[in-house]
Amino acid sequence: MSENGILIEGSRVTKRFGGITANDGVDFAVAEGDLVGLIGPNGSGKTTLINVLTGHLTPDGGKVILRGRQVSGKPAHIYAATGVARTFQSTQLFGRMTVLENLMVPGLTRPRSSAHEVARRARACLEFLNLAHLEQLYAKNLSGGQQKLLELGRCLMLDPAILFLDEPFAGVHPHLRDELIKRIEELHRAGRTFVVVDHDMESILRISRRLVVMARGRKIADGPPEAVRTDQAVLAAYAGL
Ligand code: ADP
Ligand code: MG
Repeated sequence: MSENGILIEGSRVTKRFGGITANDGVDFAVAEGDLVGLIGPNGSGKTTLINVLTGHLTPDGGKVILRGRQVSGKPAHIYAATGVARTFQSTQLFGRMTVLENLMVPGLTRPRSSAHEVARRARACLEFLNLAHLEQLYAKNLSGGQQKLLELGRCLMLDPAILFLDEPFAGVHPHLRDELIKRIEELHRAGRTFVVVDHDMESILRISRRLVVMARGRKIADGPPEAVRTDQAVLAAYAGL
């Protein structure tokens, strides 16, 4: 970790797609141990920011600093090796692999991992996620919410310091959403750092320690959830949907 307690920082991040400026000079720093909610209307640039902060996209302007080291432009596996994990807005599981196998794959990518040890960790992970009874099912046969839980499990197999979750609650049954929230809170208490993206304010307000709001590629608010929630610029951005 850097001396100021910042785990990862995007500084003046700009990313363009043709004529669209998806991120327009965004400053976004996450302190070790924080649980940050990142919200904003559809198309406001949340996923693009995650893609930049996890090394899946190289910014056109600005930089990413991870544990005090500039990493923008480096490949995503460098970020992963430094403890950065993310889930995708549409889950990226191996549908024709079993639930257990889906966890084995990222587990085996870690250095010095034996299949036996990885299987043990994968089973422990499934217990934690309440998916143990489904370990032999093909991932494609899970419900949407179970797939989101399994994707969280895939991240955990990398033993990350920070997890970026892109719309983990979208399309998830309320029962499983509560389950997912509980698991996130438990992992956070155990010391992991989170950035959770959603466009639904209510789920995010329940768990965030800090709330960041984007609109049209820019960060328009950043602070304690209760203050941000009533911010005039935020209300206007949501009303203008
Ligand atoms: P959000 O996640 O907040 O909904 P995105 O970051 O996905 O927003 O998108 C921000 C803007 O950038 C949108 O206008 C979107 O259409 C555009 N965009 C995102 N990714 C691409 C891409 N790969 N190619 C072209 N345009 C993109
Ligand atoms: Mg998105």
